Parts: sequence; structure tokens; C-alpha cells
Amino acid sequence: MIIVNSIKELQQATKNFKSSIGFVPTMGALHEGHLSLIQKARTENDKVIVSIFVNPTQFLEGEDLDKYPRKDEADKKICQLAGVDILFMPSIDMMYEKDELNITAPAIRGFILEGSKRAGHFDGVLQIVMKLLNIVSYNRPSKLRAYFGKKDAQQLSLITQMVKNYFLNVEIIPCDIVRDSNGLALSSRNVYLSKEERTKALSLSRSLKCASKLVMQNKLDSDTIIQEMQEVLREVEIEYIAIVNREFKQISNVIIGNTIILVACRVGDTRLIDNIWI
Ligand code: AMP
Repeated sequence: MIIVNSIKELQQATKNFKSSIGFVPTMGALHEGHLSLIQKARTENDKVIVSIFVNPTQFLEGEDLDKYPRKDEADKKICQLAGVDILFMPSIDMMYEKDELNITAPAIRGFILEGSKRAGHFDGVLQIVMKLLNIVSYNRPSKLRAYFGKKDAQQLSLITQMVKNYFLNVEIIPCDIVRDSNGLALSSRNVYLSKEERTKALSLSRSLKCASKLVMQNKLDSDTIIQEMQEVLREVEIEYIAIVNREFKQISNVIIGNTIILVACRVGDTRLIDNIWI
């Protein structure tokens, strides 16, 4: 595995890659969720590139940018063992100029749910992902495959839209959510949780399980499902529960094969999100 810190080095290293590249952008503090993306990229491509960059523009004022977990040495080992070919770890100065041209998330899909709770977050996400996709797909003869988790469902949807709207030479590959054996969706932010909070955090996945059980019983009314979920989530602070179709439009009834049920909660000081695709 080669570790590169500059765009020039990255493009030099990939110059002779003739075949397919799978790209996995991350913010580091890698866990099994990230690893599943890397493994999928490994099986579907000849070369795998992972980036680690804690992107400042997607953190809002007062969010956890300064304390976001950084585990560079452990991450390098994980990537090495997972058979990553190139690990790209750029600096902030490498990625941003002072007076930048900005990308803005679309008016509806970008400003509901996560977009309304974290105004400006998706602008920063789209900005950095656009840069990374352009850097890695530069001069490639074939479409770059980029791997993103369904854990961040709205992000995945917006990135897919950006690739379409900007005609990027990239295929976005959605990847399933990886969970702990107790159901908790893996997240770099889970390290913030105390033992007691961890137990409370399990209610997110339990609420989604409850929703999927109702769907299996053919109880498809969104309001009823949301009420039942609220009951399961009574020990945490709910930010939103939403039932949307794949275009992120709220729907009053679950449509099998075209629904995402999402939940965002605060457990202590930690904000957690989870979802289920139905
Ligand atoms: P992050 O480092 O949090 O920016 O995440 C990098 C990528 O890993 C994103 O595409 C996430 O959606 C994905 N990811 C994070 N957690 C999980 C998980 N538990 N299961 C699957 N993908 C995940």
C-alpha cells in the first residue's frame, strides 16, 4: 500500500493503473462499516483507493470537528490489511483555497431532515465529495466506482444526484449498513457514548425493527408506524422520524421496495442517525 498526501502524488501513482478503480472516501476512525465498503470495492475492482479526510466544511459551528476521533496509525494498518492499494490523506490546505466557489445542496432534498437539522452540512459534503471524485477520476479511461454507505441515506441520495447533475464519470455504489451484534449501526461517533448511553442508543435500531415488523404485518400507514417508533424511542431525544420514498419525498403509506424509514436522535450529547430500506 502506498500512502500519499498530495494530489500530484496520487495522480502519479494511478497513472499506470490501466484497469478499474474502486474509491472509498471516509473521515477515518475506521470500523467494520468502512471495512465493508473497502471489501466490496476490493472484490469489484482491480485497484482500491481509500481517502481519509476530516472535512471541516461539513461540520457546523459548535459541532464536534475538534474532537472528531482521529486514529491515523490504526487506520493505516486496517487499510493495509484490507488490501488497499493507495491511501490518500490530504491536508486541509491541499483541499481548500480561501475564497472558494461553493456547491449548494438542492433546495428540497438538501434541506429536509439532516439538511434542516444541520443547515449547510450537505453543501460541505457535496463540496468535498466533488473534489475527491474529480481528483480520483481524473484522466481515467473508464467510470470510477465510488462506494458509499446507506447509513448516510440522504447523503448517498444527494451524491448520486450530484454525479447525475454534473455528468461526472463516476458510478455510485450503495452499500448496506453494518451493525453491531446488538443492532447498533456502527459509527465513528459511537465512541462518544457512555455504557449507559450505548444501551439507550440501541432503541434506534429497535425502533426500525419495530417498523419493519409492522410492515411485515401489512400495517403500512406512516403515522401509525411513526407513533409505534416514538414509543420505542421514549428514552432518547428524537430529532426526527421520517418515512420517505427513494426520492426523499414524505409518503403517507409505506411502499414496499421504495421506502426508507429514517430516525435521528440525541443520546446525551451524541447525535445518532439510522435507517432501514424497505
Ligand atoms: P464517514 O467516515 O463517517 O464519513 O463514512 C464514510 C463512509 O462509510 C460513508 O459512505 C458512510 O455512509 C459509510 N459508513 C459509515 N458507517 C457505516 C455503517 N455502519 N455501515 C455501512 N457504511 C457505513
